[in-house]
Amino acid sequence: MIIFDLICGDGQHRFEGWFGSSKDYAEQQVRGFLDCPVCGSKNIAKAVMAPNLGKKGNQKPATRPTVEQLEPQMGRPVSSKIAVPAEYQEMIGKLAKAQAKMLANSEWVGDKFADRARDIHYGDADEKPIHGTASPEEVDDLAEEGIAALPLPLPVLPPKSKN
Ligand SMILES: [Zn+2]
Repeated sequence: MIIFDLICGDGQHRFEGWFGSSKDYAEQQVRGFLDCPVCGSKNIAKAVMAPNLGKKGNQKPATRPTVEQLEPQMGRPVSSKIAVPAEYQEMIGKLAKAQAKMLANSEWVGDKFADRARDIHYGDADEKPIHGTASPEEVDDLAEEGIAALPLPLPVLPPKSKN
């Protein structure tokens, strides 16, 4: 898996693309399979290669690594056959450590996140850090009630599915 930061020549829109290999990228570009998710331009070029994990926006990369690929070995290559740049490993490693520290005292509440966040907000439950899943609608509803729910930078597997 290789990640290229791509840029469209028409609108200078930057987005990221995930490819099986550089050859894969080259083939897709030659065949005109690449297009800008913002303006649809097919005038796509490779910008600087960067991981760009956690970048905000509505990019539509060709494929994304799955939670299973990322989470179990954060900071390490997904496959031992992939040479991951040291800066990438360092960045993800730091992020993973920071997130683990943040979640150390936090309780996994699964899909009860919105309910639990409300209970805490309205004083029906003791105030303590929690993390879990919520739909975009639930997050919107919470925000309207003044409850901030922030996405974690790295994916977290529910405890029960961990080996
Ligand atoms: Zn564009």
